[in-house]
Amino acid sequence: MSVKICNFCVMDATDPDIVFDDKGICNHCTSYIEDLPKLPIFHPDSSNLLSNLINKIKKDGQGKPYDCVIGLSGGVDSTYVAYVVKKILGLRPIAVHMDNGWNSELSVKNVENIIKKLDIDLFTKILDWDEFRDLQLAFLCASTPDSEIPTDHAIGATLYEIASKYNIKHIISGANFLTERIMPPAWSQGHGDWRYIKGLSKLFGNKKLKTFPHLNALKRFYYRRIRGISMVPLFDFFKFNLAQARGIIQKELEWKDYGGKHYESIYTKFFQGYILPTKFGFDKRKGHLSNLVCADVLSRIEALNELKKPPIEEAEVPYLKQYVAKKFNIDEQRLEQILKEKPKFYRDYPNIYNTLWHKKSRKYLKPVYRYFLNFMKKISNEH
Ligand SMILES: [Zn+2]
Repeated sequence: MSVKICNFCVMDATDPDIVFDDKGICNHCTSYIEDLPKLPIFHPDSSNLLSNLINKIKKDGQGKPYDCVIGLSGGVDSTYVAYVVKKILGLRPIAVHMDNGWNSELSVKNVENIIKKLDIDLFTKILDWDEFRDLQLAFLCASTPDSEIPTDHAIGATLYEIASKYNIKHIISGANFLTERIMPPAWSQGHGDWRYIKGLSKLFGNKKLKTFPHLNALKRFYYRRIRGISMVPLFDFFKFNLAQARGIIQKELEWKDYGGKHYESIYTKFFQGYILPTKFGFDKRKGHLSNLVCADVLSRIEALNELKKPPIEEAEVPYLKQYVAKKFNIDEQRLEQILKEKPKFYRDYPNIYNTLWHKKSRKYLKPVYRYFLNFMKKISNEH
């Protein structure tokens, strides 16, 4: 049976929550186009907004070793953030890199080059592998599309931790509206939800989370309200063209491509390129490409042609399966068994929403619940 595709972008009914209007145009591109003009870059006074922001970051950083924190995965977005922040804006960042045990050799080489060429200090957070492996395997056994959430959550927590340690007020993020706005929540949910992460670890894991960097509501409140640390979506203020960014970092920083968004991690490549499409029917490239179509940097036809290619080369799959099973310390048969489990979702497990909602006193908790809901929604896109 064919799946209904939006007439404007390339999102389709594999997103269970998609809504089409009578012209066959989906809710994703409709809201993208509605919200685009609200971005700071399209504000009539956009250059002032950017220079005020940069001046504030510089002022807040006076007398400190750094004025901002940046995450550095070695992917296009974070690499370009490092370039812009240091070379164009003249800021003094400390870069935070996460070693979760899955970084490809190429990504390690890219990060080394970036740091050297831009002369930036680097802090590498090495996750406790036994603990992290157990958590990742727990997520895989839970059979949800959310297996990348432990990594995303740990990165966010580490960025705040480092900002707090050096008394830095600004974390500059590569997350941006133009290339990342469209991504259905059903395809990956719970980035900011410590309750969910802890819950799956308890249900499916064998190890206590003792050292895993995490953010609960209290920590968030402390970092944001008490320490005054904010997340700056730089590319909502600064013109960002993905193709141009790629060209610049290739030329200036000798950056090498991984062949897919977030493929700098071998696990991401396997999960996003193989498990999500085959087990859940979710192909994240549809979101990535739809953003580019809506931003008018790629035609719909080009995006559709791109989607005709497989998310990863089929020949790579056996090697990746073998690699992943070995890293998880399970045999390939067990991995296949886990992959065949019936798909489940965020809503099927303990999480911040149903925990609050199912309390007997939910009537009285309603305003608190609403506040949390909005708060969680706001932060769920931040890593
Ligand atoms: Zn659409």
